[in-house]
Amino acid sequence: MVDQTDVVIIGGGCTGVGVARDLSMRNFQCVLLEMKGPVHGSNDRHRDLLHSGAFYVVADPVAARECYYESRILRRIAGHCIEETGGLSVLLPGDDPGYADRLLHALSQIGIPARRLPAGKVLEQESALAAEVREAIAVPEAVVNPFAMALANVRSAQEHGARVLTHCTAVSLMVEGGEVRGVRTQCRQSGEELEIRSRCIINAAGALVGEIATTAGINIPLLFSRETFVLMTGRLSNAVIYRCRAQGSDGDVVITGGSAAILGAIAESDRTAASPEEVDEIIEGGGQIVPGVLDARAIRAYSRIRPLLKLRRPPGSQSRGIAVLDHGMLNGVGGLYTVLGGGITTYRLAAQLVSDAVCRRLGSSALCTTHREVLPPIACRDDTVPDRKEEYEFQGISPLDLREILMPGDKGIHALKALLEERWEGVRPVAWGERLREEELIRGIAMETFNLDHVK
Ligand SMILES: Cc1cc2nc3c(=O)[nH]c(=O)nc-3n(C[C@H](O)[C@H](O)[C@H](O)COP(=O)(O)OP(=O)(O)OC[C@H]3O[C@@H](n4cnc5c(N)ncnc54)[C@H](O)[C@@H]3O)c2cc1C
Repeated sequence: MVDQTDVVIIGGGCTGVGVARDLSMRNFQCVLLEMKGPVHGSNDRHRDLLHSGAFYVVADPVAARECYYESRILRRIAGHCIEETGGLSVLLPGDDPGYADRLLHALSQIGIPARRLPAGKVLEQESALAAEVREAIAVPEAVVNPFAMALANVRSAQEHGARVLTHCTAVSLMVEGGEVRGVRTQCRQSGEELEIRSRCIINAAGALVGEIATTAGINIPLLFSRETFVLMTGRLSNAVIYRCRAQGSDGDVVITGGSAAILGAIAESDRTAASPEEVDEIIEGGGQIVPGVLDARAIRAYSRIRPLLKLRRPPGSQSRGIAVLDHGMLNGVGGLYTVLGGGITTYRLAAQLVSDAVCRRLGSSALCTTHREVLPPIACRDDTVPDRKEEYEFQGISPLDLREILMPGDKGIHALKALLEERWEGVRPVAWGERLREEELIRGIAMETFNLDHVK
């Protein structure tokens, strides 16, 4: 067990693993703590947008610029995790044609390549689109496999000496004389507690950054933006497609890639779950762009929460750009940094910025090299690299979870129940008729087979 290191990183999502890679490549000793399985933050996501910046550019040019530059770097260092779908911002009847002009202007300000396509040309390129499409702007969008990319970062970090402790929760920060001294941790499996002393701590706990900071007496003003997605069977279009209008409107996005489509919409609200009305609106909005959506089968809807730094701005105008908080300067707790905002597209830059801050504090002149060194290849679910099998998850179940489930007696049953409850948390099935009956039957058989409905 490690009990002393240069830097402790809390959170094994894409940001945390990116920081572990960056700092270990600069020769710092680091320990990454993840309270769940490996790269849990990216675990339930098989595809995300590699943003060109076009989606944000009108309302949030800072975030757009970060996305554009970073998406180009990721194409170089993580090309094996990226699918080049291209993107279309489409104008439908009733949409404001002035928005297309504003979008083109904003794109040109940053240098994001864009092409205006008349209706005939767009339909030739993307026949799935609604026939009444007026025009479209083609942008360099792509989709990325965040799970594979995060795993590649873990592998690279480990190759450079980083220690990765999974199923290990950061319980509280140790602070003495206005400086961080380390982290108190607890192993989820054994319950064992351990103090890891360190010179710096990076708080990259995603939606839980506020909870970590509280243990050092710090309040981070946060705003939670909720996004709801509906997963559909089948690939419904070739490109990533947005409606050409201000972001935040319902049924905004049709994301493609792989064998399924995801429709998505953003809502800023206190609720964490998707409502049936919201799901209907998303499907209807998606159907206006790609009519095939209305005939496709929706598999499930889910919401995710994005933590943003709450600044004094009108509602709906919070930046999605990267925020690195130096709590030495802000709150008198030296050596503690929180990183949030940004996205998977910009995780590398977020990691670089916070690692630069660590270097300044620890007096190192080591420079970032993560933008130059290609990430190691990682076997994804549909790949068949025999000696990398241990990196797979079986249907999203980690080997560790499996081991617990296979334990004899009540322990195994409770582990399975906990896993299924976590898996279904926040998930609302979208099914009706035959399909719903089939799902209920499958669920009933599974519950009875595993004796789950009798577990107290
Ligand atoms: C709905 C939604 C859609 C998005 N779509 C896109 C997209 O298409 N493209 C894009 O570029 N970006 C997208 N993003 C943004 C992107 O997903 C996030 O920026 C990114 O996942 C954040 O990664 P993270 O590592 O900071 O946090 P997370 O992924 O949340 O990881 C935090 C990790 O910290 C761990 N943790 C928390 N507390 C503790 C503790 N006490 N001890 C140990 N571990 C702890 C958690 O288990 C988790 O694994 C989206 C975000 C949301 C919410």
